[in-house]
Amino acid sequence: MQTVTPAVARARELFGSGATRPLAWRLEQLGSLRRMLGERRTEFIDALGSDLGKHRTEAQLAEIGFVTAEAAHLERHLEGWLRPRPVPVPLAVQPAKAWTELTPLGVVLVIGPWNYPLQLVLAPLAGALAAGNTAVLKPSEHAPATSAALARWIPEYLAGAAEVVEGGIPETTALLAERFDHIFFTGGEAAAKVVLHAAAENLTPVTLELGGKSPAYVDASTDLAKAAKRIAWGRFMNAGQTCVAPDYVLATPEVLDGLEHELVKAITALFGTDSARSESYGRIVDDRHFQRLAALADGSTVVHGGQRDAATRYFAPTLLRPAPGDAVMAEEIFGPLLPLLPVTGRGEAIRMINARAKPLALYVFSNDAGTRREFAERTSSGALCFDIPAAHLTVPGLPFGGVGGSGMGAYHGEDSVRTFSHERASLAKPLRPDTLELIYPPYGKAKDRISRALTARAWMRRRKR
Ligand code: NAD
Repeated sequence: MQTVTPAVARARELFGSGATRPLAWRLEQLGSLRRMLGERRTEFIDALGSDLGKHRTEAQLAEIGFVTAEAAHLERHLEGWLRPRPVPVPLAVQPAKAWTELTPLGVVLVIGPWNYPLQLVLAPLAGALAAGNTAVLKPSEHAPATSAALARWIPEYLAGAAEVVEGGIPETTALLAERFDHIFFTGGEAAAKVVLHAAAENLTPVTLELGGKSPAYVDASTDLAKAAKRIAWGRFMNAGQTCVAPDYVLATPEVLDGLEHELVKAITALFGTDSARSESYGRIVDDRHFQRLAALADGSTVVHGGQRDAATRYFAPTLLRPAPGDAVMAEEIFGPLLPLLPVTGRGEAIRMINARAKPLALYVFSNDAGTRREFAERTSSGALCFDIPAAHLTVPGLPFGGVGGSGMGAYHGEDSVRTFSHERASLAKPLRPDTLELIYPPYGKAKDRISRALTARAWMRRRKR
């Protein structure tokens, strides 16, 4: 096993030298990251193809192009976001100046999952570097080709700024025994608990980007054919192994019948009549997940798809009509199975959603303003999107993250810079005139009157606002 301590020590030494603080250093790293993705595009596309059967167009859209756009967005806005923000000073403290400033945290540990193995390591890295930190990256061992490509190219393009530690649980355990200034974890609930326990030992702040079951609600006011195409796209891209994919669909029985028909048409439009032969359709990451998905499908009622091939880990886009208690509704699916569940209407849909852990994303396909408002007001989720799944994470101005069981903290764009920074409070009060003389002890009647006047004025001002 690779010893992890030297990598962490190198990252800490560079941070400690102060070299990472200037804006110029940060912009240079973001530029190098973009250059690496441009110059090594073919190597990364091959790696993603080898790990997940990812088509080069999808690899470009969801991984390489995504991170390139994120880095460019950070470069464009970073100077403005780093500008100190002035803060008003109450009368009792005047004359004085108060402001906040974003300061780097130090060494950030990024632990990545296998489903978007490039994006979910490099997008957090871009944020960490933009905020003036160094980073240690631990890509997923279940995407070994992408992990190896990162270990090969990061040292060449981002020497010192980022270290790569390859490996699985033993290596991650060893890393978690080290002291970091922030841990950014993307993955499942079980490993998140391990990370949180380890972070508690050093009181290290963490961001947890988790998953769960993201529902979609569809009603009769929407265009079912268009909704079906978008739901099928969101569910079956990357063979369903997407954290923000619609995990199950809720609709009234009549809508569900029409939607099922349209979903079958949409699956054919996206991947042909035999998705096994479609270059655009991915594969299941490993045998364990393949067997898990097979058991979920076999334990439920398949109404479309279900074909599979263990040797190539092909699993067809599959529609299910689960019975209450089917295992497929007990856990995050994370594969190409889409359960369709009847509800009496939006009220029951909202009750079902609220009875589960808060989802990472909630999708509502409806033209009815009342329905949209009701979902907005009566549910909680990392994101709420109307008529489109998954695309919210491509809007750099939107924070991306979960709530409750789907995670804590958020990133992308300015939220990344804020996540990987400490917003330091600063106050400067000139020594003259020394207005504190008005409240220094010894106390007496006059100071009592002054202190009451000062606090009363502050109270009045607050009420007027
Ligand atoms: P995972 O939790 O199994 O692994 C994630 C990382 O944690 C890997 O690098 C792995 O090596 C490490 N790890 C696993 N078990 C560990 C342990 N016991 N101790 C220390 N480290 C450990 O997750 P995964 O299977 O790679 O990814 C799938 C999960 O990630 C799904 O739940 C999915 O929804 C979620 N996810 C969330 C997002 C998001 O942005 N919110 C994105 C992608 C995936």
